[in-house]
Amino acid sequence: QAQTSGKHHLYFDSALNAEVADKLVLEEELRQALETRQFAVHLQPKVSLRDGAIVSAEALLRWNHPTRGLVSPASFIPLAEDTGLIVPIGEWVLRTVCAQEADWLKQGLRTVPVGVNLSAVQFRETRVLELVQDALATVGLAPGYLELELTESLIMQDPAEAVRILNALRALGVRLSMDDFGTGYSSLAQLKRFPFDALKIDRAFIIDIVHNPEDAAIASAIITMARRLGLTVVAEGVETVEQLCELRAAGCDEMQGYLFSRPVPLEEFAAMLRAGK
Ligand code: C2E
Ligand code: CA
Ligand code: CA
Ligand code: CA
Repeated sequence: QAQTSGKHHLYFDSALNAEVADKLVLEEELRQALETRQFAVHLQPKVSLRDGAIVSAEALLRWNHPTRGLVSPASFIPLAEDTGLIVPIGEWVLRTVCAQEADWLKQGLRTVPVGVNLSAVQFRETRVLELVQDALATVGLAPGYLELELTESLIMQDPAEAVRILNALRALGVRLSMDDFGTGYSSLAQLKRFPFDALKIDRAFIIDIVHNPEDAAIASAIITMARRLGLTVVAEGVETVEQLCELRAAGCDEMQGYLFSRPVPLEEFAAMLRAGK
């Protein structure tokens, strides 16, 4: 008996060591990825439910790992946040998006606003306002082409400070989106203190919208209330025509999801814009 538990103990210990070692390797790889330009930004369109036009996009980080191929951000963003590496990585995403938008406008392409995800760590540890101002000014991009996507948990860590920074960003002319709405604990009533332009309903509420009347009721209530508060409502993760119909009937403004397009490389997104206009 004692021997078995000893074995278990050993097993868990080495599993734990392996996990720590994996993390160290990953951390070192993340640093190299930044230096050797292994990251890319992909864009996923957000589409108007009124006329199907591409009205904006979301920037999603992609890691082209030399041996492991395309690595999903879900698997490395938590570590990037733990190690603080999200700060330079996030800055790179922001500057890359601003530079691309400015370049497209210079080429005469009628581009749309692009949303960049902001991590709570970035928000806490950097002067976000100064960073955004500098990213825009460096390439001469009008602030209306930039949108920032922030989660409830980010703004609720220090709501008073968040209100101050978000008001300043909004005064600059940057658009603000509440991301993953419904997964945290804040209510729409609390959110009205924040100067958001748009609210994104998390995919968790969209998945079963067609077959689960409760999810449909929640989504519909969020849409109605958010619209009455003057917010543009975006449904995340729309994959089927049935979901689309349900959302349209509920009065949702925009959708983002595989039904219309997966996130695509920058050049492919430019081609989508050219084809649509
Ligand atoms: P998110 O901000 O909620 O982004 C939406 C995620 O849903 C993306 O996953 C997108 O590819 C995926 N998605 C879009 N449409 C569909 C659909 O129809 N079905 C399904 N199943 N999924 C869909 P992705 O690209 O893997 O990103 C995961 C998360 O990683 C993001 O969730 C965001 O929290 C984070 N992330 C991505 N890029 C960045 C970044 O540049 N900075 C920061 N801080 N976080 C990022
Ligand atoms: Ca997002
Ligand atoms: Ca989201
Ligand atoms: Ca999400």
